[in-house]
Amino acid sequence: MKLGRSAARTDPGRKRRGNEDSFVCRPPLFAIADGMGGARAGEVASALAAGALEDSNHGSGERYLSELIQEANRRVHERASTDASTSGMGTTMTVALVESDGSLTIGHVGDSRAYRLRGDRLEQLTDDHSLVGELVRRGELSPEAAEAHPQRSVITRALGTDADVDVDTFSVETEAGDLYLICSDGLSDMVDRETIERILRDGRPDLDGAARALVQAANRAGGEDNITAILFELVEGDAPGEPDERTREFTVPHDDEDTLHPEDGVLPPPPLEEAEPAAAVDTMVVPAEEIDAAMAAQADEAPQAGIGRRLLALLVIAALIAVIVALVLWGLAR
Ligand code: MN
Repeated sequence: MKLGRSAARTDPGRKRRGNEDSFVCRPPLFAIADGMGGARAGEVASALAAGALEDSNHGSGERYLSELIQEANRRVHERASTDASTSGMGTTMTVALVESDGSLTIGHVGDSRAYRLRGDRLEQLTDDHSLVGELVRRGELSPEAAEAHPQRSVITRALGTDADVDVDTFSVETEAGDLYLICSDGLSDMVDRETIERILRDGRPDLDGAARALVQAANRAGGEDNITAILFELVEGDAPGEPDERTREFTVPHDDEDTLHPEDGVLPPPPLEEAEPAAAVDTMVVPAEEIDAAMAAQADEAPQAGIGRRLLALLVIAALIAVIVALVLWGLAR
């Protein structure tokens, strides 16, 4: 088994001014970093993380991937701690490495995902390090509810926010014919699993076209966030080392028909004002322990607080009415 074709595509989407996603498509190494932070800090974070991979030598195995991602974390964290304009920035990172024996090693931090299409079935390989991901794993939230959850952009781990980061790594058994997808949440939040599955199944003969179709689907669903998708396939054969020639056919367009598609008949939104407040879907990092505490506090207090406030309002209104009635009666009595 060996690496076959690959394709990559990134797009700012329809609502964001810049593109804070970065990616690496350097077969047999593939990665996506989805940056966050004020101003352009998100772009800086994801570019620094991707740069760490670009500078790497070829190694193999889970330990190697974990070290690569740790190195990316060090670079982002160091910059964030020394350059005030990037303070607090961070990025997700999901890396896939096709080993010389054809197996696949994945390492990740955050909510950028890896999927596999085997036959007709799409399967998510990574567990999101996100608030809703944790709740779904604990059985406290259904996967359907998670898709529409207002806090679905809260991630519990990111590169750059701490000197050390906990990296998840695992090895994936592979079969010839497998098609792998790595993507940022700008795709997985906007397009449901079934649609991604259908696009990959139908787009199989032309991976570049399939990557373009994924971006298009996310934009048609609203394009709320930057969208990045990387596709690669494993094929029969035992020639490790040099990947398939066609693997180099990927393209990286930055402004083309994906963002403004003629048949959509929709104009893109006007450029955002500089002072525009952060959109609701902006990613932020909250450690899992803090989420536990917040959820517990919310469960304890929220209902009483709501009832208390309503009771108080009723009492105030009742008191006002009593005063008015008293004044009227007093006026009549005179
Ligand atoms: Mn994103």
